[in-house]
Amino acid sequence: MNLEHIKAKDPDIYAALINEIKREQSKILLIASENYVSRAVLEAQGSVLTNKYAEGYPSRRYYGGCKNVDIIENLAIERAKTLFNAEHVNVQPHSGSQANMAVYFSVLKPGDSILGMSLSHGGHLSHGASVNFTGMFYKTFFYGVNRETGYIDMDEVSMLAEKHKPKMIVVGASAYSRIIDFKAFSEIAKSVGAYLMSDIAHIAGLICAGLHPSPIPYSDFVTSTTHKTMRGPRGGMIMCKAEYAKLIDKAIFPGIQGGPLAHVIAAKAVAFKEALEPGFIEYQKSVISNAKALSEGLINRGYKIFSGGTDNHLMLVDLTNKDITGKDAEEALDKAGITVNKNAIPYDTKPPTITSGIRLGTPSVTSRGFTTKEMDEIADIISKLIANANNERLINEMRIKTTTLCNGFPIYNNL
Ligand SMILES: *Cc1c(COP(=O)(O)O)cnc(C)c1O
Repeated sequence: MNLEHIKAKDPDIYAALINEIKREQSKILLIASENYVSRAVLEAQGSVLTNKYAEGYPSRRYYGGCKNVDIIENLAIERAKTLFNAEHVNVQPHSGSQANMAVYFSVLKPGDSILGMSLSHGGHLSHGASVNFTGMFYKTFFYGVNRETGYIDMDEVSMLAEKHKPKMIVVGASAYSRIIDFKAFSEIAKSVGAYLMSDIAHIAGLICAGLHPSPIPYSDFVTSTTHKTMRGPRGGMIMCKAEYAKLIDKAIFPGIQGGPLAHVIAAKAVAFKEALEPGFIEYQKSVISNAKALSEGLINRGYKIFSGGTDNHLMLVDLTNKDITGKDAEEALDKAGITVNKNAIPYDTKPPTITSGIRLGTPSVTSRGFTTKEMDEIADIISKLIANANNERLINEMRIKTTTLCNGFPIYNNL
């Protein structure tokens, strides 16, 4: 990476950037919502397109000089339509939360009701949490997962939909490791006259690779991020039926955003092109097989995985049978070069700042080339660290192992 100008102009930012490159290279990143983008995506995002204002949409801009930006945005849209088989796509949302906000604003009025997945059971802030705009603007109700099975409780969804007659049902999660039955959600939504919004922020990459059922045929609106399993730049997108196209476009601009981030849209377009290549399907298959290997590796070493395993790229490790909190586990792993996030498990009795779980995901480690063999080794390291969180000698030993693993797989070798 060429950073000579930053180095000369701004040594402070340069130093932090170099340290970040080192951090991303030298740690095993198991944060389920993160990934490493390709060099091509980095170049698009770091380009002169950041200079350009382009309020409006291709061929309907409020600024001159948008010819190149139009080409780029049209390509991003066309590629996304092909990838997801969507009727209409908007690639301008600055983030996943902005995408969700635009959908709500397009068809709901303040005070309308939303039924979403509870944050404490794996849902997202923007699905109705009280501290989020959704909890402030809308009446919100929540479904969760079954205490015994760990799977979304469809009977509860159905019962709550019947009881509260929400204007919109939201399905999608940030910490749910099982296949989501979008068809069943659509049947419930139809039966009570609710819109269905499917938020595939986490699993979009799996869906366009055909490894998770698609919500597109069953949903009025589908929102996503582009930076998680999609392996593109940080950002959001909305897909919808053609009948909602105008409403969605208006909700994004001029509704909630001004100028689109042309450099990010270019990076999205590049990521979508990469996702259309056969290698992307292979990548997503490995993401899933690595997650299964990590989950089985931990189960074999006496750990509980919430719901008993994983069908996707992530898992929740339930630490209630271990003598450690999520917070302390996160810290112990970090000392040995493994980055994870503490995460409440459903029905957790500990506060969200402490938690009884950690969330692990495989998109990043798979991008750098780790296979199921490395996953088993990582399961072994994690299990030893959590069982010996205060043993400095063991932590040092494990740090040497993680460093060796990272050195064997430079992050920008394959990308
Ligand atoms: C990550 C995530 C989002 C939000 O993405 P941001 O880009 O961080 O705003 C929305 N929904 C779900 C389910 C997510 O996991």
